[in-house]
Amino acid sequence: MKIVLLGPPGAGKGTQAKSISNRYSIPHISTGDIFRKNISENTPLGIEAKKYINDGQLVPDDVTINMVKDRLQQEDCKNGYLLDGFPRTVHQAEALQLFLQDRGESLDTSLCIDVPKEFILERMTGRRVCPSCGASYHVKFNPPIVASKCDVCGSDIIQRKDDADETVRERLDVYERQTQPLIDFYSSKDLLSVVDGTKAINEVFESICRILGSDK
Ligand code: ADP
Ligand code: ADP
Ligand code: ZN
Repeated sequence: MKIVLLGPPGAGKGTQAKSISNRYSIPHISTGDIFRKNISENTPLGIEAKKYINDGQLVPDDVTINMVKDRLQQEDCKNGYLLDGFPRTVHQAEALQLFLQDRGESLDTSLCIDVPKEFILERMTGRRVCPSCGASYHVKFNPPIVASKCDVCGSDIIQRKDDADETVRERLDVYERQTQPLIDFYSSKDLLSVVDGTKAINEVFESICRILGSDK
């Protein structure tokens, strides 16, 4: 199964992706997580990406597309994958379509987690993440069991630099300008399902499973 997750920053893509990945046994590929890992390891890709990420801007398409193509050719992707945070521009979506076409493959669906703007600011400013495994928490809506420790791996959880108030607003603008058009892109190809992301985390997951069904 090949799935693309869409939705504004803070919609709950990463949170749902962890559950979908477990339930359907497909790798969760988060471009944000890959960039953050490269930043923490100070790789050339990380140094380049950091310039954009900390300002709430998108990393250039060519850099991002090449990185994703490399990732999708790894062994663990041969039975499918879940893309979280990619594509984010129409150009990226077109590159993904071409990549799939060249291999005689296609997407199963894109899932949009729909959350209105009013909810987003609180979700993003209250978000805490695990720098080791990428798990996402929320100080109010989804706190870890032990204060400040990741439930999955026990690392100290942190606040992302780009989750500060002013960068959040910039990212929402970027989303509206560059990523929202993907909703029409996938809808016109009959590849769009929408779930109500304002519900509780487990309810959103149930809606997603109803759409994806029981096949793997
Ligand atoms: P969120 O879901 O909260 O927006 P992500 O972890 O998906 O956060 O992304 C964090 C940042 O990484 C983005 O604001 C952007 O700078 C960069 N990024 C992630 N994915 C892409 C992409 N597909 N294209 C360009 N930049 C990206
Ligand atoms: P995204 O990957 O789309 O940027 P995350 O999965 O990181 O979003 O979620 C953003 C924040 O909102 C996190 O702090 C997360 O714990 C919280 N969150 C996710 N889904 C919900 C939900 N359905 N209700 C309330 N808070 C949520
Ligand atoms: Zn962790």
